[in-house]
Amino acid sequence: MALKLFNTLTRSVQEFTPLDPRKQKVGMYCCGPTVYDYAHIGNWRTFVFADLVRRTLEFSGYEVSHVMNITDVEDKIIQRVREQKTTLREFTGKFEAAFLDDLKALGCRAPHVKPRATEHIPEIIALIEKLVARGVAYPAADGSVYFSIEKYRGCGACYGQLLKLNLDEMRSGERVASDEYEKESLADFALWKARVPGDGDVFWPSPFGEGRPGWHIECSAMSIKALGETFDLHLGGEDLKFPHHEDEIAQSEGATGKPFVKFWLHGAHLLVEGKKMSKSLGNFFTLRDLLARGFTGREVRYLLLTAHYRETFNFTLDGLHGAKSALLRLDECIGKLRDLAGNVTAAPDANLLEPFSAALADDLNISAAWAAVFDWRNEMNRRLAENSLHPADAAAALAAWEKVDSVLGVGVKAETEIPPEIQALADERAAAKQAKDFKRSDAIRDELKARSWVIEDTPKGTRLKKL
Ligand code: AMP
Ligand code: ZN
Repeated sequence: MALKLFNTLTRSVQEFTPLDPRKQKVGMYCCGPTVYDYAHIGNWRTFVFADLVRRTLEFSGYEVSHVMNITDVEDKIIQRVREQKTTLREFTGKFEAAFLDDLKALGCRAPHVKPRATEHIPEIIALIEKLVARGVAYPAADGSVYFSIEKYRGCGACYGQLLKLNLDEMRSGERVASDEYEKESLADFALWKARVPGDGDVFWPSPFGEGRPGWHIECSAMSIKALGETFDLHLGGEDLKFPHHEDEIAQSEGATGKPFVKFWLHGAHLLVEGKKMSKSLGNFFTLRDLLARGFTGREVRYLLLTAHYRETFNFTLDGLHGAKSALLRLDECIGKLRDLAGNVTAAPDANLLEPFSAALADDLNISAAWAAVFDWRNEMNRRLAENSLHPADAAAALAAWEKVDSVLGVGVKAETEIPPEIQALADERAAAKQAKDFKRSDAIRDELKARSWVIEDTPKGTRLKKL
């Protein structure tokens, strides 16, 4: 089934076809974290969305090259390095490691390439030199280098591909040094920022003078290096459309003269309890905050994956409790299917796989995809309850679930390891039961319960379950 995705570039849902002439390899770049703090769950919504896109492409049979940069030099980082009197590497290293731990806890597949901006300074400088040589970038008196929107447009290029910009209101010659700015302050933006005393020892030599790169040029240089001058997919949160992604297009196309990216995908924002996340409102959560409250990474992932990526999603702690119980019900059903299937294997059941695949192919319609999973789970539970399911049916259902979960990535909770003393008690109870010593077997069952374990009877005998 052909995969369709909403392309911000064309403002329409389009069939996705890779640039690769063999239609096999796909290059995908997702703007990564700026490592100046722990990522919050809003950021995580975007990275889980990127993981969903990657997994869907892999599920569709493509070979994906997933690149996610680490922004480890930028205005906010430098400010904090200065405030905390530390070094750039020590400061960013801590948050980069925490980010990668959280990425794993959320069940995201590791990107194949994770380039750091500070390790691509020569590539960044080369790209800026190209832009200067092509006449679309210019050095300012202080040694910074700016991108000229006027000169770029003068070459017939379009600035404002992802959203409509009112360029006629722009006053020529205005410049913005900061990485983040609003549409209203549309102006030439910095590619290279000349060294100022506040930068401390965060600077590099360059043909333009000592300084450091702007944020936007980092992504152009790293994505082109990893995926080539034109590649398939570029992702990020919707706030990155302007100026970050618009500037990435201008820098890349300005330097290469080729189209930069075929499909631009943007994820909508996450609200918390109906409001914008902010520390002062007390609704600002990192993944660590949620784990400390007793939730798991897969529960957070599940919740972040319940809404369509282009719709604003309202995160609530109640929603997270709901995610916990939904997963528990799914785990129970899959546990029963596993008991019934035993060692039997079968081809995946199309009753789950087909509606699930169709939903995903329709611009990642995740609500319809989950509906297919829940209808299937209800049907399985019904048939399990009336004993009408054969081991081969259970095996086919499990084979389909495995494929579905290769996209959802919520897995099934790993069986809790049984401590040896608990296993010994269970064995003793089984022996007592066989010897018809019911008093002893009941006493052991109570003892196990006191230690939070129950013995369940299954078609294949008894099974220990942690309460
Ligand atoms: P940053 O580390 O600030 O560059 O952000 C990393 C990613 O998180 C970017 O793709 C942002 O667009 C995204 N992002 C930031 N805030 C939110 C939010 N509230 N909801 C969803 N994504 C967000
Ligand atoms: Zn970027």
